[in-house]
Amino acid sequence: MDAGKSTLALQTNHNHAARGRVGLIFTVHDRSGEAVVTSRLGLTHDAIEVTEDFDFWRHTVDALTHGARVDYFICDEAQFYTPEQIEALAKITDELQIDVFCFGILTDFRTRLFPGAARLVELADRTEVLQVEALCWCGKRATHNARVEDGVMVTEGDQVVVGDTDEAPSAVSYEVLCRQHHRRRLTAARAQSVSLVPEPLPFG
Ligand SMILES: [Zn+2]
Repeated sequence: MDAGKSTLALQTNHNHAARGRVGLIFTVHDRSGEAVVTSRLGLTHDAIEVTEDFDFWRHTVDALTHGARVDYFICDEAQFYTPEQIEALAKITDELQIDVFCFGILTDFRTRLFPGAARLVELADRTEVLQVEALCWCGKRATHNARVEDGVMVTEGDQVVVGDTDEAPSAVSYEVLCRQHHRRRLTAARAQSVSLVPEPLPFG
């Protein structure tokens, strides 16, 4: 699910901090379960957790009023922010001259835009597709997220699974696939099991 984006978020923070700029780092639902940005390469950084009612504007104005210096924001997992929070980030960029760098994915496992990601694309000065691209098991560029519940790929359900509720399935994971294999619901594990089955193959 990451596709190297948290790594890029931390790299961007490092580049700006190295120039003496002061930043704040935000995230939601980090894989560590805490308000920390962690990348698959093992880098970590403390972060401010963006809850559903987190007020970016108030938080920032309070910090500035108390004499803090803030030059930029690093916003990881920005797809999970509410559209209102994304709008607040645009206002902060325009009114407070703080550079806001958002990192996230566009679509969920049903191939639908996250509401926050949609608002971000609508408002951003600039959007870039990651150069560190994830690959599907077949080798093509992975453009879609698959949700796998207890070994089975699903395409319906809540957009966000909160891991610690009773209703949550026991084993939810995500796998990136190319569009074709997302459409066919052919995860790496399923492709492997299918290839072991003698004829006839169910996929043409
Ligand atoms: Zn594929």
